[in-house]
Amino acid sequence: MTNWGPEPSRFISFEATMLKANKTRSGPARWIRPLVRDLNAYVPGEQPKVRGLIKLNTNENPYPPAPSVLKAVRAAVDGRLRLYPNPTAEGLREGLARLHGCGAENVIVGNGSDELLAMAVRCFVEPAGRVDGDGGGRHGEARSSGTTVQYFLPSYSLYPVLADTHGAAKHAVGLGADFALPTVAELKRGKAWDFGAALTFVTTPNAPGGRGYATAELETLCAAMRGVVVLDEAYVDFAKEHAMELALRHPNVLVGRTFSKAYSLCFQRVGYFVGPPVLIAAMQKIRDSYNVNGLGQVAAEATLKNLPYYREHFRKVIATRERLAAELTEAGFQVLPSQTNFLLVTPPAPAAREWLEKLRERKILVRWFSAAGLDHHLRVSIGSDGEADALIRAVRSILAETGRGRKGRAT
Ligand code: PMP
Repeated sequence: MTNWGPEPSRFISFEATMLKANKTRSGPARWIRPLVRDLNAYVPGEQPKVRGLIKLNTNENPYPPAPSVLKAVRAAVDGRLRLYPNPTAEGLREGLARLHGCGAENVIVGNGSDELLAMAVRCFVEPAGRVDGDGGGRHGEARSSGTTVQYFLPSYSLYPVLADTHGAAKHAVGLGADFALPTVAELKRGKAWDFGAALTFVTTPNAPGGRGYATAELETLCAAMRGVVVLDEAYVDFAKEHAMELALRHPNVLVGRTFSKAYSLCFQRVGYFVGPPVLIAAMQKIRDSYNVNGLGQVAAEATLKNLPYYREHFRKVIATRERLAAELTEAGFQVLPSQTNFLLVTPPAPAAREWLEKLRERKILVRWFSAAGLDHHLRVSIGSDGEADALIRAVRSILAETGRGRKGRAT
């Protein structure tokens, strides 16, 4: 596991079963493909069963969908539930095409953008076969570009899991200081970057760092790549710039978006990719026939008719983000500038993992990652103003408590 967090019992029992199966490799476990048996599954943030917790752990939007979106979903819940939805989400794709000034053939919709990220791996990357633990390719073989999923570190921790699931090779290259995107010259000089990788994921703005990237620097990188580049813009509505134009100008660029974060629709699972028709058509070929459920399509289409409502909320989230950043800085945290709906912060003593627990005791959930280089940070989603106030109160109380603790030990 690269992620750590108090996991829902579903994952604990599922993990325990798999661990047992790995050990015995007998009984039903012997039918599981070795690749699957050895896979480190992605661990999503906790969705707690206990009520009353302040959830700042999964970057959900604190504001509800527009009233007319809820109305449209309610109105669609009738006898029509027995029918299959539109298989290609045609109405939604047309709405998205109008929004982005392209054709419906430039757009594919997925069951969340996660599904499309997985489809991109299946569509553009040859499996390498049985992969070593470090993802270096077949035992003893050098990694080849055609089988490579490439991404920066840190970025979205799903990418390596998708590569492993497909039996592809994974290739991670570090970002610069403060999560800066290395320039093409730096990448060439560093020699680690694979300009021919079959598929490269760039999380922009970065997650979990929060740093935004300029379209110009992304364009220089995309133009230097010989494989497909996915610009994963899951958080871009909270950023200063987006790079959608690159998907419409470059033959190898796809831009990924989601209705989950900025449009308050995590529950419905709707994401989409925009890109060159040839790449989009190839992805359509491997899509499940009815991958986007009917209510999801209804909700997303209604969302597109209410964009000013959401834009108002982006402004509120950004304002809360900036206030929270200032108040946490004041409290002694190091706070990285963010262009997303979360902050990556380094707390003062005690260790970040202890903060996670102490905040949870005060009914506030944030996210901590065990990965090397990230384990001294906490990722805090931006909630409502009230939730930000509650977090600040909890932080002050923890600081007071640990201050008392230190005095206690000294005497
Ligand atoms: N990209 C990034 C960087 C994300 O953090 C997430 C959410 N975990 C996604 C894509 C996927 O979002 P969804 O599947 O909800 O559209």
